[in-house]
Amino acid sequence: MKDFGYVAATDVATAVREIRPGAKFLGGGTNLVDLMREGIEAPDTVIDISRLPLTGIEELPDGGLRVGALVRNSDLAAHPTIRARYPMLAQAVLLGASGQLRNMATVGGNILQRTRCLYFYDGTQPCNKREPGSGCAAIGGFNRMHAILGASESCIATHPSDMCVALAALDATVEVESVRGTRRIPLRDVHAVPADTPHVETALEPDELITAVEIPAVPVAANSRYRKVRDRASYAFALVSVAAALDVRDGQVAAVRLALGGVAARPWRAVEAERVLTGAAATEAEFRRAADAELAAARPQSENGFKIELARRTITATLLRLTTEGSPA
Ligand code: SF4
Repeated sequence: MKDFGYVAATDVATAVREIRPGAKFLGGGTNLVDLMREGIEAPDTVIDISRLPLTGIEELPDGGLRVGALVRNSDLAAHPTIRARYPMLAQAVLLGASGQLRNMATVGGNILQRTRCLYFYDGTQPCNKREPGSGCAAIGGFNRMHAILGASESCIATHPSDMCVALAALDATVEVESVRGTRRIPLRDVHAVPADTPHVETALEPDELITAVEIPAVPVAANSRYRKVRDRASYAFALVSVAAALDVRDGQVAAVRLALGGVAARPWRAVEAERVLTGAAATEAEFRRAADAELAAARPQSENGFKIELARRTITATLLRLTTEGSPA
């Protein structure tokens, strides 16, 4: 690991004043330190933001919540208001990483974590994200974990976060701060699809610091679930995941929120499926029809065609379970 300078910031103004090309913010460190060990990230200076006063979860006047960027994933999942109003968010966070990692990882860092594409971490392989213009070893390579939606000929990586999938379904907003002031970005617009610039991963400028996430009041989210399908029962990234919220009245879907994980470079809000479902009968056949509508745009790679049927079944099963059992206890 190359030598780097260290600055401990005690307030947001100092942190954003200290950031400059070659410097990186360090929160929980659960992704950045790994990337530094592997030589993927090599900052000149690390600005430690872990002591900033961004650890609160506060009520908003509209009935939503403001979550500080340094709230630990464990604390977010355990918060009684999150569990009551947004059960799919609590469940998504609990299904991510390990207990030890959730105790360290922050909300802001979870949003900005980078892909777990194996080739991205392997400096001997071409990777357009790590080295623009070098190629993509995953296309035609080992790609069973890779994207089926929104990918490009430059990159087929997925975003690894579970939390962000639930936040996308909830229409959360990300607040960022820089020396130019405060800016709010819809979570759904934070992560970029790769197109021909896969190294550009987010809508944030390099000098912007995430300070909070705001979750609006979403009444339908009180009946919600997150389902994650993965290769082993814990500590694994999603092959496919589904965040779903459903309100059924007189047998018809009155309101629905749906987002997918493990399938794209961004948490994938399933707008087509939501459109089909709204006003439809709350039946398995309609749930499957909605899944089909969303997945019509799916384009499999050489090893991940199974994800299309897996996504179809996971969407259908999650919605069905919401109609019969509601939210998890
Ligand atoms: Fe790199 Fe993206 Fe290709 Fe993975 S999928 S090797 S991250 S360009």
